[in-house]
Amino acid sequence: MLPPAASIAAYLERIDAARWYSNRGPLLEELETRLCNYLKLPPFSVSLLGTGSAALEAAIIAHAGTARPDRPLALMPSYTFIATALSAIRCGYEPWFVDVDPETWMPDPKALASHPELHRVGLVMAVTAYGCRPDMEAWVAFQAETGCPVVIDGAGAFEQFEADPSLVRSEVPVMLSLHATKTFSTAEGGAVLWRSPDGWARLAQVANFGMSDERRCEMDGFNGKLSEYHAAVGLAQLDHWPERRARFVALADSYRRAAAVSLSMPGTLRLSPEVSGAYVLIDCIDPERADRVCSSLAALGIASRRWYGRGLHGEPLMQGRGHDPMPVTEWLSGTHIGLPAAVDLTDAQIALVVETLSRVN
Ligand SMILES: *Cc1c(COP(=O)(O)O)cnc(C)c1O
Repeated sequence: MLPPAASIAAYLERIDAARWYSNRGPLLEELETRLCNYLKLPPFSVSLLGTGSAALEAAIIAHAGTARPDRPLALMPSYTFIATALSAIRCGYEPWFVDVDPETWMPDPKALASHPELHRVGLVMAVTAYGCRPDMEAWVAFQAETGCPVVIDGAGAFEQFEADPSLVRSEVPVMLSLHATKTFSTAEGGAVLWRSPDGWARLAQVANFGMSDERRCEMDGFNGKLSEYHAAVGLAQLDHWPERRARFVALADSYRRAAAVSLSMPGTLRLSPEVSGAYVLIDCIDPERADRVCSSLAALGIASRRWYGRGLHGEPLMQGRGHDPMPVTEWLSGTHIGLPAAVDLTDAQIALVVETLSRVN
């Protein structure tokens, strides 16, 4: 649930008065500043963009540049949402999919440092699956050691950076999605967290067609701007963020309570704060049980989802692209099921979901 019209109205009136609708207007600047303050980051550490995907593309161009012929590959996990790979392709890279660590659900930076394709790699994308906490220290060390620029797709990880702003670094940019399905949202929108005023300025230029203040196109770019209307939603969201945040916490607690009294479960619930509050996952004992979880819920008209499909290496568009063996990705994508996670679910609805799960064997 996003902020209701009444809480956005005062911001919309400011747009009417200023007649400034996009292109880094006053509401966007206010939202960047307020987010920096809220996340206890220095000024110019938050850049807002039109979508999470635009934020990812701008971060790639600003940090790694577009692909070069001698280093065409982008290493990335297969266990992610398709947007990760599409953004790299838009920047000229050829995705090469790697497997993830079974504990962190992210690629292991130590293992990647000796990847056989590394000499052809121009970009490494690490994804915080389901908004888990990234080991930024390890990614910064990987980048320093290999010279391969790293960009983090932290799409769902707002709460991790909120809990520990030291995860925001100057060496490696992190993208957040502010899409309506994520916790902190502007309906459509994205952000780059990066303790780098130079990086901030490059992101602004990339997202404005690569144009300088003199209206000269000096670098690669595109239209990646967030409008004042979306900034208005974001400001209203920030005004009411403590309540929205509390509702995500309450959702996870309600699932925890329901699971605690159920006799048997086909797997383990993975909930906020381990994952983003926008996700409620069940980590099933095996893929067959996971399939039965989906069909038992569907029989009651309850939706469930494998958020990352069966891994990107299985997507039709990605056929023929390079990838490592994928035992962990295949296991995780078979066994992780996304359960209903709306903040307005009632305890009774959640109890019904959990009771249905407990009858799956
Ligand atoms: C949501 C998401 C994106 C895309 O963000 P948009 O704001 O929808 O463009 C990218 N990567 C991951 C892992 C996501 O979950």
